Amino acid sequence: LGESLRGTLDSLRGKSRIDEEDVDEVVTEIQRSLLQADVDVGLVQDLSEAIRSRSLDEEPPAGTSARDHVLRIVYEELVDLVGDSMELPLEERTIVLAGLQGSGKTTTAAKMAWWFSTKGLRPAVIQTDTFRPGAYDQAEQMAERAEVDFYGDPDGDDPVQIARDGLEATADAEVQIVDTAGRHALEDDLIEELEAIDRAVDPDDTILVLDAAIGQAASDQAEEFDRAVADGVDGVTITKLDGTAKGGGALAAVDQTDAEIAFLGTGEGVKDVERFEPSGFVSRLLGMGDLEQLAERVERAMVETGEDDEEWDPEDLMEGEFTLKDMRKQMEAMNQMGPLDQVMDMIPGLGGGIMDQLPDDAMDVTEDRMRSFEVIMDSMTEDELEHPQSVGAERVERIARGSGTDPETVRELLQQHQMMDRTLDQFQGMGDGDLGRMMDQ
Ligand code: GDP
Ligand code: MG
Repeated sequence: LGESLRGTLDSLRGKSRIDEEDVDEVVTEIQRSLLQADVDVGLVQDLSEAIRSRSLDEEPPAGTSARDHVLRIVYEELVDLVGDSMELPLEERTIVLAGLQGSGKTTTAAKMAWWFSTKGLRPAVIQTDTFRPGAYDQAEQMAERAEVDFYGDPDGDDPVQIARDGLEATADAEVQIVDTAGRHALEDDLIEELEAIDRAVDPDDTILVLDAAIGQAASDQAEEFDRAVADGVDGVTITKLDGTAKGGGALAAVDQTDAEIAFLGTGEGVKDVERFEPSGFVSRLLGMGDLEQLAERVERAMVETGEDDEEWDPEDLMEGEFTLKDMRKQMEAMNQMGPLDQVMDMIPGLGGGIMDQLPDDAMDVTEDRMRSFEVIMDSMTEDELEHPQSVGAERVERIARGSGTDPETVRELLQQHQMMDRTLDQFQGMGDGDLGRMMDQ
């Protein structure tokens, strides 16, 4: 199957114009893969239409082969189909999990709690399932394995009261995850219970947990759950992706509720969880091998056409605000290009050893420090990366915990950034003329 998609795409190699027949062939292959992955028929049809019309209507950018043009469109439309990853700011929040019995809610609650703990936040799991025998013990054990706070009432029979008590009992936690009961099928009492818990908890996010094998039932199910909660379903987590099911059915739920996918479950353990990432999921849907190759080719095509805005250009350093993101890109670029003073030499007007005039340690980041800096930046929020000057003592502590480093190293990173920022400011202040004069000396 993967082979035939690749074969079809390869047959476009060298063609500069694409005809309807070529496009139909590609579309047929993609349809076959997606339907096999349980993607809703209507969604597959819409996607096919989009690929077909864009491939024929849009002019390939100059220098792009017909194949790369179609690849690019296929890839963009697929990523568009699966949607963005649900945003989960690393801040205090309350999350309710909903879904049918056996979909993986209790497991997901512990997994998400574990994930938030790796980001330096203190999570708690609140178990409100009084319906399923053994639910309390299962949740308690999983929370223990995830090493997170836990609240439940093994003798309670009022889920709403347990939810209220649980929020109070775990008030010290920054992320409170409320696990709910499921039923074998959509029943009125399940929906009523969820409605009541939703009213009592008033969560920031409601996440619908779906088994990867859900297939075409996803849309109706999602609609019911979406209606039950006041603010609608915000996110979806797809579980059991370690099995044979590819989870394509869940896309109908995403479409139905305007939600975004948050996490993927890939095993029974508390650490078997990943954040959803569109291109990786697309690869999974179509069969790993060929999509990886496809993505690679698309990337190459994008770099060639200069449309990859992630590409780092040393000259960017000379414009705008220097954020931690810039610093990170620059560190990554250094890995590929060599030390920063050499990189700076590539900037027109900055060559000629001008870097020698800077304080020696201004640009000095050893490889070891760079590695710990990268880990630290992974534990920072977008906002912190863009405005490092706003990171106060409390956040330094959190970031240190989340990255498994220490506050000292986090402060070093912030100082390093400040130093580079100041250094670059000096350069930005200079016009070309000044630079020229400096270099003439
Ligand atoms: P709940 O009824 O919605 O709370 O579902 P549970 O969390 O109890 O999960 C139901 C079953 O599915 C349990 O046996 C879990 O171990 C299993 N399970 C949950 N998530 C995954 C997963 O991602 N992969 C695998 N293989 N099993 C899972
Ligand atoms: Mg459960």
